[in-house]
Amino acid sequence: MSTTASASSPTAAPSAVVLFTRDLRVHDNPVLTAGAAGGRPVVPLFVLDDAITARIPGGRLRFLVESLTDLDEALRKLGGRLVLRSGDVVAEVCQVVGEVGADRVHVATDVTAYAQERERRLAAELDALGVEFHRHDQVHTVQAPGEIRPGDRDYFSVFTPYWRRWAEVPLRAPAAVRKLRVPPVDGLEPADLERLVKAGEPVGTLRGGETAGRKLAQRWLSRTVDEYEGIHDDLSADATSHLSPYLHFGCLSATELVARATRDHPGAGADAFIRQLCWRDFHHQVLAARPDAAHEDLRPRGEWAEDPQALEAWTEGRTGIPIVDAGMRQLIAEGWMHNRARLITASFLSKSLGIDWRAGAAHFARHLLDADVANNALNWQWVAGTGMDTRPNRVLNPLRQAARYDPAGEYVRRYLPELEGLTDVAEAHQPWRLGEQARDRLGYPAPIVSVDGAKVAAVKGKGAAGAGA
Ligand code: FAD
Repeated sequence: MSTTASASSPTAAPSAVVLFTRDLRVHDNPVLTAGAAGGRPVVPLFVLDDAITARIPGGRLRFLVESLTDLDEALRKLGGRLVLRSGDVVAEVCQVVGEVGADRVHVATDVTAYAQERERRLAAELDALGVEFHRHDQVHTVQAPGEIRPGDRDYFSVFTPYWRRWAEVPLRAPAAVRKLRVPPVDGLEPADLERLVKAGEPVGTLRGGETAGRKLAQRWLSRTVDEYEGIHDDLSADATSHLSPYLHFGCLSATELVARATRDHPGAGADAFIRQLCWRDFHHQVLAARPDAAHEDLRPRGEWAEDPQALEAWTEGRTGIPIVDAGMRQLIAEGWMHNRARLITASFLSKSLGIDWRAGAAHFARHLLDADVANNALNWQWVAGTGMDTRPNRVLNPLRQAARYDPAGEYVRRYLPELEGLTDVAEAHQPWRLGEQARDRLGYPAPIVSVDGAKVAAVKGKGAAGAGA
């Protein structure tokens, strides 16, 4: 912890500490609203957790810092400010509690094993100090994990019945805060954040923070959501919302998005978009109940293939299968990948090459701006057949997927400069058709597995072969 303890005396009225984690917003934030209820002084606190900032990749760190700077500005408009500390979260919360004489702490509950352990430690330490601990469980998701349960189990393992129940539950009332009073307390200076930003290389074009997130959401809802149902799988149209990093860091409230989509843009597009937000809730409720699902198979499977060369080719976008390589290169270039491409590349790694989904999930987590333990691990498990897919043996055939979701070859030409001159769609998706010499001249590799119209068959006995969707 790099700050010194405050020299100022505790405020007369007992304060509340509002611990921000990944709920970096002032609009519809039940934690902030509860903390400031009744005009109580609050310390809006964010602790840069060394254990997290040390391993978070540069682009995501930049997004986080931009989000914190924006949050500070929003809090100042309400009469407050963000108090920034660094170090161990539990120790810093207890330190701030002591400095301002707070009698309560508010935080959003979260689903990862790390967050659950942090909450357990906080609960124990605050209890020992005689300080109230308030956990708010409907902050990151629309419905609280564990709130909707099938009769005899603590989580839903199949999406459709979850979706039916989820859609029937009324939305919680929006949370609002108009004014804040913050007692005197020390924190890091903006320059400290600047140093962190400099360490983070820019990735992609999205700027972090609630302000940017709200602008993007507004544009998306008013211009594109109506078309979403028909176009969301079209790789070259790239017409999904791109709101995932803002949802991950809580710069946007998922509940508010559902409310606005339903109220202002009713129709098939909004319904399809809301269904995707329900998938997000679905994965969160699984991880809340099964935090080990971040790394353990939910459904046991046989051995995985050991093939470091194939794994490297996949990570670098050099498998020789354009639709797979385009997705992987988009990930490196933009810190983002279209959902359809995530499905295709993940199926290719885990099903066609038979390589452990954990290796793929780790690579995604290193590069995705929206990397999220629940969504990443559980989507990977879904695709790999170790998770919640009711058809665990399904294999996505990359050629069929390419024909269906990139019918003009635009997506592969956009991300694979070697192929940008191939105007013939069949050649763009299957450059091996050009013959070995012509393909070599393009500087594009031969496929690492044999591919024909119906099958992706692993060569050299690797991986699971199969016809697919
Ligand atoms: P939109 O299509 O506009 O959807 C709106 C929102 O719904 C998204 O922002 C997201 O929060 C949620 N959503 C959409 N699809 C899914 C889904 N399948 N599961 C859960 N929530 C969904 N999403 C992440 O946020 N973080 C991840 O780390 C992540 N890893 C993934 C790994 C794999 C292998 C796969 C197949 C999917 C992964 N997804 C992940 C889900 C999905 O691909 C992204 O949420 C989506 O592409 C983000 O783009 P968008 O915001 O434009 O989505």
